Amino acid sequence: MAELKMRCPACGSVIVLDLTDEDILQIEDFIARNGTYPTYEVMCKKGHKSLVTLAVKEKNGMLEPYIKNIAQVLVKPGASGISQKNNLVSWLKYHFSEEE
Ligand SMILES: [Zn+2]
Repeated sequence: MAELKMRCPACGSVIVLDLTDEDILQIEDFIARNGTYPTYEVMCKKGHKSLVTLAVKEKNGMLEPYIKNIAQVLVKPGASGISQKNNLVSWLKYHFSEEE
């Protein structure tokens, strides 16, 4: 068992990632098979998504997981905000077009 703590890149709140021994073995296996580090999606208590890349190192004959990188997931404007923007435009037209 291991507990990894990190801070949300967006708001700084603490995110705790609990890893079982099986999880840690999976990380090691993933690295051995793919030659890259596995990335996990985590969410802080405020709902910000981040991607955490994990690695393992051997310490006193035990596998110890550690955080290689943490990246905030950014949503490209327009990717999911289109409908909201359109709604705002139609709201503006509806409310202000008569005064033009
Ligand atoms: Zn956050």
